[in-house]
Amino acid sequence: MIMLIHNTNNHLLNWDDYKIRHDFYQSKEWRMLRAFKLQLNPLCEFCFKHNKFIDKDIEVDHIIDIKERPDLRFTLSNLQSLCKSCHSYKTTDSGTNGKITNTRLEQIINNNK
Ligand SMILES: [Zn+2]
Repeated sequence: MIMLIHNTNNHLLNWDDYKIRHDFYQSKEWRMLRAFKLQLNPLCEFCFKHNKFIDKDIEVDHIIDIKERPDLRFTLSNLQSLCKSCHSYKTTDSGTNGKITNTRLEQIINNNK
């Protein structure tokens, strides 16, 4: 069972700090939650909406960026399974510092169909 730690100082964490990010992504809690999410949603959730069934190289994405809401980093409802292609659209959209919303991701994917 995962113990979720609700730290009210979460917003003070500096997610630009490489070590803090590294420690989070290497943490046992994140690895367990990530594996659990992939069991629940083994398919890319965006591709699935467009009737595409992609189950290769699925990555777990924070819907609301971890920098904006570090307190939601272990919140299941803030996670989505994305294929590499959809995930890279989300993290490389120009002019947004790598942070885009699901609505914007939907637009990009629709434009690229
Ligand atoms: Zn996809």
